[in-house]
Amino acid sequence: MLEAGQIKEVEIVDVNYTGQGVAKIDNFVVFIDKAIEGDHVEIKIIEKKKNFAVGKLLKIKEPSKDRINPPCEYFYECGGCQLMHMDYSAQLLYKKNRIINEMRRSSVNMDCAVINDTIGMENPFRYRNKTAFSVAKKNKEIIIGPYEQGTYNTVDISSCMLQSSEADKAVQFFKELMVKYHIEAYDKKTEKGTVRNIVIRSNSRKELMLIIVTATENFHNKDIIVKELISHIKEIKTVVQNINSKNINLVMGYKNITLYGEGIINDSIGELIFTISPETFFQINPLQTEKLYSTAIGYANLNKNDICFDIYCGIGTISLMAAKRAKKVYGVEIIEQSIVNARENALNNNVINTEFFTGEAEKILPVLYSKNIIADVVIVDPPRKGCEKEVINTIIKMSPQRVVYVSCNPSTLSRDIKLLESAGYELKQVQPVDQFPWTTHVETVVLMSRVES
Ligand code: SAH
Repeated sequence: MLEAGQIKEVEIVDVNYTGQGVAKIDNFVVFIDKAIEGDHVEIKIIEKKKNFAVGKLLKIKEPSKDRINPPCEYFYECGGCQLMHMDYSAQLLYKKNRIINEMRRSSVNMDCAVINDTIGMENPFRYRNKTAFSVAKKNKEIIIGPYEQGTYNTVDISSCMLQSSEADKAVQFFKELMVKYHIEAYDKKTEKGTVRNIVIRSNSRKELMLIIVTATENFHNKDIIVKELISHIKEIKTVVQNINSKNINLVMGYKNITLYGEGIINDSIGELIFTISPETFFQINPLQTEKLYSTAIGYANLNKNDICFDIYCGIGTISLMAAKRAKKVYGVEIIEQSIVNARENALNNNVINTEFFTGEAEKILPVLYSKNIIADVVIVDPPRKGCEKEVINTIIKMSPQRVVYVSCNPSTLSRDIKLLESAGYELKQVQPVDQFPWTTHVETVVLMSRVES
């Protein structure tokens, strides 16, 4: 009988979706943090539940061939990355296998499908165009960084390998200014202090937007701090103060005050230009997004007579790419501000054949269908929970030739594919794209085609 406290030697046979190594002891599953497939390790059982146990890694007896020295010194504390001890090509394989496993679990028919290798990055560092760090006080010192894994404790870092070096520089300088001008970090326990978080957005031109999230609107020396920031870090194009007065763990509040510049930056995906404000949702890894979306557009295989739906369209990134090839694109999105941005983006890019609707896709889609607005090709890019059943049902009623599914969660993707499959669609292509190297996030583009009867 496996019990907490026991010391065991095990072989890691898999890595689960949170990045933990998986071992089996007499067919009982044990999860071990920071262990990877192929490792031979000594562990201590620290918890035993009904269906699984948790082990703590004590010693690596024989490392996996895929084990590497983490390129980042903060890996073992920081909650940002989960796979920095795994060789990059092994990460790409892990992501592909996760999709295949989820599809098997949902009994998806893969007989006619091409399962492609994960498209990785040539240089998988400094790819993020947005980072949010918490600001705290530890032993009377200001510290800035991500949260520790599984807690809201800040890890003090001087550099993050996933963000641009300009962003690194701006964060460090901001920290110096907090010390110089005696600006306090906000303390969740006492609800005292000023600065809660720092959010940095960057674009492909290396321009920066610095968002200072504060608990209160006023803080002393605000003007001089902004002046020093922009004269010292030339890349800063705009500084915004965001006020988050609620004692909750959301990064940003609802009120923004532009302290310098226009309060926005622009970025491009392919030949399209997008305006980004502090709260805009924009894909985090623009290089890979281009690959993700061009795969999606390729699968959509649009022609000038096609009516295309972009469901869960956000600020219209996919819609605008599709519009260049289709007769008309209808975009549907729940967040009103995103639709405002989508319409502006269409205007700024001289795209005239799009129409955007705000609301829940599960409500909007049946209305469009009842008005006889019907898609030849549907593209969906839902959040982690996947498509609502009503969305899938209405797609089935519309009976488009092709459904292109962009997914950030292989589990809900497989569930939804299965529903489409039972309504006469066949899985044709599966393309994983690595949007977040060193993490367990898996992005997939899938093509399903209607089987001609
Ligand atoms: N395709 C866009 C956004 C994808 S993220 C892009 O790449 O930029 C998923 C989007 O779905 C988010 O913008 C989110 O606001 C939206 N969303 C979430 N639930 C929704 C629902 N029930 N109906 C419509 N949109 C929804």
